[in-house]
Amino acid sequence: MTQTPPSPSVKGWCPGAYRPMMSGDGLVVRVRPVLARLTRDQVFGLCDTALAFGSGLIDLTSRSNLQIRGVTEGNHQAVLDRLQDIGLLPDDPILEGRRNILIAPMLSKGDNTTRLATDLMARLGDLPELPAKMGYAIDTDIAPQFTQNSADFRFERTATGDLILRADGMSRGRAVTVDTAIDALIEMADWFVATGGRENRRMARHTMLTTLPADWQAVLPAAPAQPLKPGQTALGAVFGVAFGQIEATALKTLMTATAAKALRVTPWRLFLMEGAEMAETAAFITTATDPLLTTDACPGAPLCAIATVETREIARSLAGQFTGPLHVSGCAKGCARPRACATTLVGRDGAFDLVRNGTPWDQPTETDLTPDSLVKALGTH
Ligand code: SF4
Repeated sequence: MTQTPPSPSVKGWCPGAYRPMMSGDGLVVRVRPVLARLTRDQVFGLCDTALAFGSGLIDLTSRSNLQIRGVTEGNHQAVLDRLQDIGLLPDDPILEGRRNILIAPMLSKGDNTTRLATDLMARLGDLPELPAKMGYAIDTDIAPQFTQNSADFRFERTATGDLILRADGMSRGRAVTVDTAIDALIEMADWFVATGGRENRRMARHTMLTTLPADWQAVLPAAPAQPLKPGQTALGAVFGVAFGQIEATALKTLMTATAAKALRVTPWRLFLMEGAEMAETAAFITTATDPLLTTDACPGAPLCAIATVETREIARSLAGQFTGPLHVSGCAKGCARPRACATTLVGRDGAFDLVRNGTPWDQPTETDLTPDSLVKALGTH
């Protein structure tokens, strides 16, 4: 009889530049770009650092961070030095660890999104100590864009354009202004701690168990915005990144070819090249209908030491052969998509289990599939 795989384990800390995570291919050094933006020089500097001290691969994460992969322990300090030199590590280790901020990518200089993000960064030291995975969303474009992305404290707009602060898990938020927003956030964070939130680790879980003040759950946000897609925007060209994995050489080539002024990161495996026109490239996704946009795959073997299967080549070969999204997970932890998917393949002991409409840790409908038997089991066409 098939054993039910274990549910994913949860790490109590979030890796950062100063506290990298060890993976199968070496240290993973995470960079949190300030205002979710890198200047042209910073992009080249980051790529050169990845090529000099890492494997040349850079992850674009679901929290809008960039991760240099394959760094040896001996090279970690050199990577930190380079990141500091190019302005990608502007704060001390404690504040850097707290700077988990999603920022609406279409911000412009001096607008309220920029102001809120800047004010929040300036006051990170005034916040109480929170569980390391907690984060903030400055989701203050016309309508919320980050509703499916991880954040515990959310600044959003209402349908009439007013500003609210919403605790994750609640359908409504608290009316604030740009001037009162960060004080209100600190008050909510203090409330979280004072009411035992650290035990519950995340806001959504805490608000299921603890009642917020009435006026903090009073105002509805606007309906979510249409998701951003690859293509041309007024600010520049948006490119997609299959599985969130960027080759540093390919990114440098694209920066040069498009003459982009800067790069903005998003949590959706998309980046925006500021001031650039859309360009042909085989290294990145350029069309909104590309099936790789709805295909998830974790690094798998050999990049992750836990994996017993290769994931991304298999995902690439299967993508587009179905209707509906696909998730290929190296194990039952489900790092690339820790939630349900129409079709999920889960690596186990060198083969795959198949889960329909479930998570990687749900009961599979078929087990022990090989790359050859996968196609038949999936009923591709
Ligand atoms: S899901 Fe993939 S990346 Fe995450 S632990 Fe399992 S094999 Fe590693």
